[in-house]
Amino acid sequence: MPPFAIADILIVEDSLLHSQLAASLCLELGASEVREARDGQAGLERMRERLPELLLLDLEMPRLDGVQVLQHMARDNLRVPVIVTSGKDYMLISAVEQMGRELGLPILGGLKKPLRKQDLVDLLRRRWGHDALSAQAEDLCSDTEIRLALDSGQIIPYYQPKVTLDNGRLKGAEMLARWNHPDKGIIPPSRFIPVMEACGWVTELTLLMLEQGLKQWQEWARHGIRIPLSVNLSALSLKGDTLVPEIEARLRASRVPARYTIFEITETAVADNLAEAIGIAARLRLSGFGLSIDDFGTGFATLQQLTRFPFTELKIDQSLVTSVCEKPHLEVILNSIIELAQRMQLSTVAEGIETVADLEFMGMRGCSMGQGYHIARPMDAPRFGDWVKQHLAAIQPAQPR
Ligand code: C2E
Ligand code: CA
Ligand code: CA
Repeated sequence: MPPFAIADILIVEDSLLHSQLAASLCLELGASEVREARDGQAGLERMRERLPELLLLDLEMPRLDGVQVLQHMARDNLRVPVIVTSGKDYMLISAVEQMGRELGLPILGGLKKPLRKQDLVDLLRRRWGHDALSAQAEDLCSDTEIRLALDSGQIIPYYQPKVTLDNGRLKGAEMLARWNHPDKGIIPPSRFIPVMEACGWVTELTLLMLEQGLKQWQEWARHGIRIPLSVNLSALSLKGDTLVPEIEARLRASRVPARYTIFEITETAVADNLAEAIGIAARLRLSGFGLSIDDFGTGFATLQQLTRFPFTELKIDQSLVTSVCEKPHLEVILNSIIELAQRMQLSTVAEGIETVADLEFMGMRGCSMGQGYHIARPMDAPRFGDWVKQHLAAIQPAQPR
């Protein structure tokens, strides 16, 4: 039995043959109701009658095509998780997926026709119930609550390991902020970081994460684990005279060598004073910290920034990495990114490694490190410590020292 229970599925597809094939796959996967519509207009009508739990949407159709259907869905707030299907090339499918996401729709992914059961199962297994869906249902938390959380120590780091792709050696961990809410449990950063950014509290968040990370580093070092910790640094923080001294002061107090901290910077394009931002980045490098360009390959992390900022590491965005084998058109872009990074002597990290296929593909193309659910999900410090012990035990026989 697949790990998802989808009761009501709508298939919008003009070809009777493809529609029947899709319907029988859905029934096999346990859907209790499958509705079909033969064109975009009819599909929208079915959705207005009742929102399905999942939509399989073809692109080429009479009356309204798949692109127009997505546009109407966004306009009319028909929030249904979508799988885009088409017999056309991957480039087109992926462009439409991207368009849907830009419109704010929960797009699970794209599949080439004829649909195959295993591809559908794999896609649903990966996407059903996480990010695309949950992100939509989320509301931002209030600024007063978040302020309280910051002041009362409820914002804690989770740690996600970064390993080499060729032999799984542990190379570091990224610290990801979580709100450990006394009643609501763990709250993800998408629900509080936008508010912190709007209120001007993200620098405070970075310093708080750094402080906790340095303490944790010392504790792990006592157990023989010495790995670099990566801290996310918003481009909004790259201004003023205080950031570098504040960071250095924490480092001095902890006596952890600077090379064990890497700052991951995203969206440097939005830094309003570029010269000032570059100056701060350069001073961080001079102090011995690593500097990583995050989400490379998305709209924000561009080639131009790569040449302007003194980065030491490049993190390839997960949109280019996850299910890369199903997206052959990305191969040439990935090859160029990795080659570019190598020429610039930057280490490369593939984010969003969700399957062994993702891992092998990126490894074969020369990307040195990876991070993702297939390796491990972000964990709190005690669980990370346990994971490291198990991981070391598992890879030790392969690499005698
Ligand atoms: P990011 O820096 O790109 O972090 C990677 C995100 O991808 C994390 O989401 C991580 O949990 C998730 N992830 C890891 N492996 C996989 C995978 O295999 N598949 C998929 N689909 N996702 C994976 P998270 O923890 O929800 O963080 C979201 C974003 O929030 C981060 O994106 C980062 O931009 C921001 N953030 C997190 N902590 C901080 C922080 O302390 N300061 C700042 N300024 N931003 C932070
Ligand atoms: Ca990051
Ligand atoms: Ca990233």
